[in-house]
Amino acid sequence: MGGCVALVVAAGRGQRFGGEIPKQYRSLGGQSIIRRTLDVFLDHPGVDGVRVVIHPDDAPLYAEATKGQDVLEPSFGGATRQDSVRLGLESLTAMGPDLVLVHDAARPLVDPEIISRVLKALESSPAAIAALPVSDTLKSTTRELVTGTVDREGLWRAQTPQGFRYREILEAHRSLAGASLTDDAAVAEQAGLSVGIVMGSEENLKVTTEDDLRRAGHLFDRGDYRTGFGFDVHRFCTGDHVMLCGVSVPCDAGLEGHSDADVGLHALTDAILGAIGAGDIGSHFPPDDDRWRDAASEIFLGRAGDLVAARGGRIVNLDVTLICERPKIGPHRAAMVHQIAEILGLAPEVVNVKATTTERLGFTGRNEGIAAQAVASIRLPDIA
Ligand code: MG
Repeated sequence: MGGCVALVVAAGRGQRFGGEIPKQYRSLGGQSIIRRTLDVFLDHPGVDGVRVVIHPDDAPLYAEATKGQDVLEPSFGGATRQDSVRLGLESLTAMGPDLVLVHDAARPLVDPEIISRVLKALESSPAAIAALPVSDTLKSTTRELVTGTVDREGLWRAQTPQGFRYREILEAHRSLAGASLTDDAAVAEQAGLSVGIVMGSEENLKVTTEDDLRRAGHLFDRGDYRTGFGFDVHRFCTGDHVMLCGVSVPCDAGLEGHSDADVGLHALTDAILGAIGAGDIGSHFPPDDDRWRDAASEIFLGRAGDLVAARGGRIVNLDVTLICERPKIGPHRAAMVHQIAEILGLAPEVVNVKATTTERLGFTGRNEGIAAQAVASIRLPDIA
């Protein structure tokens, strides 16, 4: 096939981390660390495929974490990181990529620019890694006493991704199987390959301890927070069900509208569009356009979600209030939350649906229709 495959190493058990779940499956801002890491590589134009090396025991965790992501089948790792990478490389022989980028699953804040820099360096070198120059003064010690100062000139801290020409790193790993080297550049060095170095970033930290997880959380939460509000009303007509928040709810009436009249999803779509300054549902889906006649409103919501993603944004949370005397919302609430989360690829924890009546006052109180209000909170990337 040629091209470039990202080999993401997630086979570690993370004993250093303590908790029950290996660290790469822990949550960072509502999504697992590994899912966030994979998204960066899946979205990078220089990467043609992404394979994850996992621990066999983690197969169910992995399946859940990567649901809907366009990744290759995972391969199983070995007893050490070095074994795991070698087995991952072996799993790519049939595919035969030109280049491979080895990356730690526990580095979710890798910048696409770093990936680009590694790929660029691979044009002139068989291996290239992201790293940071050491800026702290280094001390050697014995028994908590300083014995000397180490010259930091020319010292770098290695990160990932580490990129290689595939055939060369595969051969290197085969010939050094069983040696205990802590990164793949060391394998390349031992095999006599020249290894280029490009600038990594402080943000590209490896989540190893609870402290790292907190630090990653703070970095991840930086940004420009926006709020949007949406409101919509649809009138009752004859029918036997209404669409509310993507769920068909049995009712002694229907809702009138050009599309499926899903008042909940319309309010929500407007809230999201409002938060990112992208107009309203009518400007994106004109009601006089026949394409949207009887359309499923999840199309509208999905499009709003795509616009958020195109701006590099992230939906922080969503809240919808349905206002009606009938039908009863309670029994369908969980299904509605699930639907909205599914359409937008969100964790259900960040979606809330609630309902109220207006005490028989006003048009909703007179059972003439259903109203919905929604609020969306969205994080956009830092303004540069
Ligand atoms: Mg509407």
